[in-house]
Amino acid sequence: AFYDKTANIACAYNPTKVMHSVVRSVPSIGPLEALVRVRATGICGSDVHFWRHGRIGTSIVEDECIAGHESAGEVIAIGADVLGLAVGDRVAIEAGIPCGQAGCVSCLTGDYKACPTMVFHSSPPFHGTMCRFLAHPAAWLHKLPGNMSFEDGALCEPLAVALSGVEKAGVKLGQSVLVCGAGPIGLLTLMCADAAGATPLIITDLSEDRLKLAKELIPHVKTLLINRSWMPLEIAAEVKKAAGESIDLSLECTGFESSIEAAIYCVKFGSKVMVIGVGPARQTYPFGYCALNQIDVQFLFRYSHQYPKALKLVSSGKLNLKPLVTHRFALEKAIDAFDTAGDPAKGAMKVLVVDE
Ligand code: NAD
Ligand code: ZN
Repeated sequence: AFYDKTANIACAYNPTKVMHSVVRSVPSIGPLEALVRVRATGICGSDVHFWRHGRIGTSIVEDECIAGHESAGEVIAIGADVLGLAVGDRVAIEAGIPCGQAGCVSCLTGDYKACPTMVFHSSPPFHGTMCRFLAHPAAWLHKLPGNMSFEDGALCEPLAVALSGVEKAGVKLGQSVLVCGAGPIGLLTLMCADAAGATPLIITDLSEDRLKLAKELIPHVKTLLINRSWMPLEIAAEVKKAAGESIDLSLECTGFESSIEAAIYCVKFGSKVMVIGVGPARQTYPFGYCALNQIDVQFLFRYSHQYPKALKLVSSGKLNLKPLVTHRFALEKAIDAFDTAGDPAKGAMKVLVVDE
């Protein structure tokens, strides 16, 4: 049954901290839902974290939970009341489903990412999208333009994070921007800052290979390999030297204390540090320095209304996501995909699970 293409194969984490493949029944759909044949799913750092550590904040792996929330696929059935979507449509699957109910201020004012009853795929107790057949509200499926692949569609999820960060930070033409961390989120943030007209651009990481990819994506970016022994003030001095000037805006994409502190020391008086990275529950940062230099330290939580923009930017050629994909595995081999995504020695950037 496992290799039968009509079986609903899924890949799940569970409290034993071992990834496993499971076969689920094909879900039935409600009147406002669509049944999606999932074709591509990216592995996010949070999926690896739930597998290995069993929790992120208050979201805890207490039972078997299907992984994945970066997905795209094809609509194969639609509910009776669905308008604007048809069988055969190719779609990016928005990872979070807000309630949209009467009285929900977040949903009704438009900043739906703050919906207190948001169902976010692959954050326990909610199952993820790394399966073959997924029931999903049609309203939260975004039709893929004809020139976008399912893989492009899957990558719209992390792109939505980057777009949200760049939008909230208010990146401007001609601003000097530092991006800390050249993981998928940092690289996508770099690409967005570049597309928004920021210059010069500088990106840091601890890995030479990751910085090499940054340079391939954005040839004019200045890269700075961080030595683990450097203190934040030293990092900031190196960043300013490499950029040739103080920084107008830091977009922090690691979540680590020393990187956040360095990001703060890099920016000019009165400037902003947008912390996109999510670190440990408690960390310290230089409060006094921020006060005396009037630094705005801001944080980012996910996104609202970013998928339509993501689709336009990729479809128009403003952003090319393809070089981020370093590994592909069939759905039946999803466990191997996790082993690759979770092992830094394998040098993966974005690992995709695909199902032809
Ligand atoms: P990742 O782990 O692949 O990338 C992080 C990169 O930072 C790595 O390449 C690592 O080498 C580098 N790094 C570590 N310490 C560093 C330092 N001191 N200086 C410079 N670089 C350093 O993770 P990712 O998938 O790219 O995600 C990045 C961060 O964004 C994570 O913290 C993740 O939780 C967060 N995130 C936030 C949101 C949100 O809504 N705010 C959404 C998704 C992901
Ligand atoms: Zn709501």
